[in-house]
Amino acid sequence: METSKRLMAPVRVAPALGPIERKIQAARLVQAMPSLGAAYAHALARWEGDPVLRLLGLPLITECYRSVARQDALYAQGRTKPGKIVTYKRGGESKHNWQPCSALDVAFQLPNGEMSWSGLLLSKFARLMKAADARVHWGGDWPGFKDRPHFEV
Ligand SMILES: [Zn+2]
Repeated sequence: METSKRLMAPVRVAPALGPIERKIQAARLVQAMPSLGAAYAHALARWEGDPVLRLLGLPLITECYRSVARQDALYAQGRTKPGKIVTYKRGGESKHNWQPCSALDVAFQLPNGEMSWSGLLLSKFARLMKAADARVHWGGDWPGFKDRPHFEV
């Protein structure tokens, strides 16, 4: 049996988290309201269980709870501070400011180790989030300003 061709083919390795990053992810996940946290855990398990999706990248929670001060700093960006506008919510107005938190932001760790906010990957993950719990709203579905990394209940 000829196997040399298969052996020479480039091997695509799915990204995996180290122990520290896993702890950070767990700490962010417990900040979430139970329904949102369960939806994320379910969507992540389905993503990781899909051999094609797994090779595209690994979903990560970049932020769940956000302090009022940090929300105000983000609101200033693109208004009184340099940068692009990233939010229309002032401190205290965002679901990220609630405790427990009813919003979380997602990005992807690509196989090459880089972070990605690909709209395609986020839309694929949004389908799994909404399938896990119909109460989940995806920022990519909002009319006008699209906040594709954002999920909330
Ligand atoms: Zn968000």
